[in-house]
Amino acid sequence: MAEQFETEADRQDLVKSSRREDLARAQASLAMKLPPELGVFARLAYNYRWSWHVDGPSLFRAIDPVRWQSCGGNPVALLEEASSEALARAANDQELVSAANSLWAQIEAELEAPTDTSTGIQADPDRACTVNNPIAFFCAEYAIHESLPIYSGGLGVLAGDFLKQASDSRVPLVAVGLMYHKGYFRQRIDMDGVQQESWLESDPSRLPAVLVSDAHSSGADPLRISVPICGREVLAQVWRVDVGRVPLYLLDTDLEENLAVDRWITGRLYVGDRTTRLAQYMLLGVGGIRALHAMGIDPGRIHLNEGHAAFGPLELARRAIAQGADTNQAIEDVRQRTVFTTHTPVPAGNDTYLPGEISAVLGDFPKELCLDIDTFLALGRTSRDSSNEPFGMTQLGLHVSRTANGVSRRHGVVARTMWQDLFPKLTVDQVPITHVTNGVHVPTWMSEPMQQLLTHKWGSGWQANASDANVWSQLDSIPDEDLWQVRQNARRKLVAEAGRRAINERLIRGEKPDYAESLDLDPAVLTIGIARRMTAYKRLSLLTHDLDQLLQLLAGDHPIQILVAGKAHPEDIGGKDALQSIVTIRYEPNVGRTIAVLEDYDLELAALLVSGCDVWLNLPRPPLEASGTSGMKAALNGSLNLSVLDGWWAEAFDAENPNGWAIEGDVNSDPVGQDNRDASALYGLLHDTVSPLFYDRDSSGIPQDWLKLIRASMRSVSAQFNAQRMLDDYLNNIY
Ligand SMILES: *Cc1c(COP(=O)(O)O)cnc(C)c1O
Repeated sequence: MAEQFETEADRQDLVKSSRREDLARAQASLAMKLPPELGVFARLAYNYRWSWHVDGPSLFRAIDPVRWQSCGGNPVALLEEASSEALARAANDQELVSAANSLWAQIEAELEAPTDTSTGIQADPDRACTVNNPIAFFCAEYAIHESLPIYSGGLGVLAGDFLKQASDSRVPLVAVGLMYHKGYFRQRIDMDGVQQESWLESDPSRLPAVLVSDAHSSGADPLRISVPICGREVLAQVWRVDVGRVPLYLLDTDLEENLAVDRWITGRLYVGDRTTRLAQYMLLGVGGIRALHAMGIDPGRIHLNEGHAAFGPLELARRAIAQGADTNQAIEDVRQRTVFTTHTPVPAGNDTYLPGEISAVLGDFPKELCLDIDTFLALGRTSRDSSNEPFGMTQLGLHVSRTANGVSRRHGVVARTMWQDLFPKLTVDQVPITHVTNGVHVPTWMSEPMQQLLTHKWGSGWQANASDANVWSQLDSIPDEDLWQVRQNARRKLVAEAGRRAINERLIRGEKPDYAESLDLDPAVLTIGIARRMTAYKRLSLLTHDLDQLLQLLAGDHPIQILVAGKAHPEDIGGKDALQSIVTIRYEPNVGRTIAVLEDYDLELAALLVSGCDVWLNLPRPPLEASGTSGMKAALNGSLNLSVLDGWWAEAFDAENPNGWAIEGDVNSDPVGQDNRDASALYGLLHDTVSPLFYDRDSSGIPQDWLKLIRASMRSVSAQFNAQRMLDDYLNNIY
């Protein structure tokens, strides 16, 4: 560790070349198992960049479509498991091999292009962020691709989109997270409508992940860092997943040298046990900074995406203090480098710990900051001197960051109100929490056929200017017939896949074959989707709130069909109840025929749903939806939003130039009254407005007015609510 280098640059070079060697070794060992023509696939496999290229997935699928499916889209597993026949066939397919080579050439050029130095963060020379002092993005979960099961919902999807955009925009950014071994569960719904979980064991060595080696060892030994947790030195190794140009470093304590309880720290995402949870936060924050340091990376900026990693800045301060810096000054210096994004106005999302819990897990960490325990605990309190207040990770995040933000305009207001007590001298408006509205990554979330249609008319490369309104003003150049054709095809594809899955799942659940088969999804029928994390505030139960009205709607003159999906956190009773409320009505007239509940909502199912549904519902209890992003994905695909005016929709909905439908978002102090009112608004809109409009066709069968709404929605949402605009806002206003 204490090795000396001539210059800092020498050290950086050694570390960088060691990173390249790690990757090259993994690629070479995979390539050795393949016919030489397919060697390029081994290179493609170790960088998720293929996953947001329109041709990427189809190249891997072509090798062995069935195995591609059974590997869950994991390219390393596919190449390792494909039969020699399939590999030989692919090797002889010259078109495939040349397409793969050309994709790799494009990706390689992208990876080697210089970092964009014109980004806003360079504007302030004191805060310049260079390649060796990158932005370090910290998050507890990442949804990069369905084959990397280390996410649970919206926070992870946002983080994944953020990294992809940082790569596209060539921003100097590295990311830090945890490699959960049993991070992901499969959802089954039983005959009582109760969610059952079965946890998947994932083997990182079969993922597109490379173990980071110790640059200072001669034999490429894995890098090991240690973090003091519960009085023990817990060891962690570091996996690297390449997300285009962005390296994602994932810490992993599943090592033989560790005690079983310490190996469990990276067992499960959002584990229920509080001590383990806190241990995860120590690993992510303190361990994350140590891992970066061991890899020669001194972050120019720390972005805490949620409070989970908020011990990280303190670890940086600790290092300075160990070298003689004054505690207050060291914390202040680190604070100047740290930014914090809060994502949730729901109390359960802002977890807190008792002093005893903090002391037990953190041990001497406060002492190493030269802080007595009370001063340390005050860093996690809303009011610094109320000694019986528990320690909150969000409060800590706010205390150790220079700037903080919510994730939509409305959430900014909510967060300022929520955390005003932290700033007793300020009025709500003066509370230093701003907002950056979330956005989604266009190449990831716009379906291939829609991207192809636009590329066909606009030429390639428009995705790189997705936040430019002029790009979307060209929508008028897309003929109605073509746009409608893409919509029809997307619905057809969704209905076929959802029907197949839902009937299968009914049979597995134990339904009688007659009932299972009674599902009759129709590719021409108005298709309404509601897929969310199942949790009480998302109010999926509004759908069944007035059963008579729902049944009338299903039996009405204008046929509709509804697709529902979503997982509840295993310990979220309210979420499980919401799911059950939809399952228990399944034998009511027409319900079995027209409503499909789909298990295992994940990135892949989400992409299918947001592209194929005609209407995308969101029914949060205001003001609890911080942003929401799935409606943005829907809009990119020409699906229309019908949503409560909360989160992002409160700033996207345009009553004057309608781009969807809205349910009032004011906060009613009587939740039951609010549910009654909102449910009746929902049924009313669907019955009186939405379905008549959908079925109002011209002589060639095209719904002219519906298409007008689609154009308005795509135009207004796509430019504003995409990840490029979001990243630019962070670069210009936050970092
Ligand atoms: C986009 C997405 C989410 C977030 O959706 P919300 O609109 O915030 O509810 C959650 N899960 C998956 C799988 C997603 O793709």
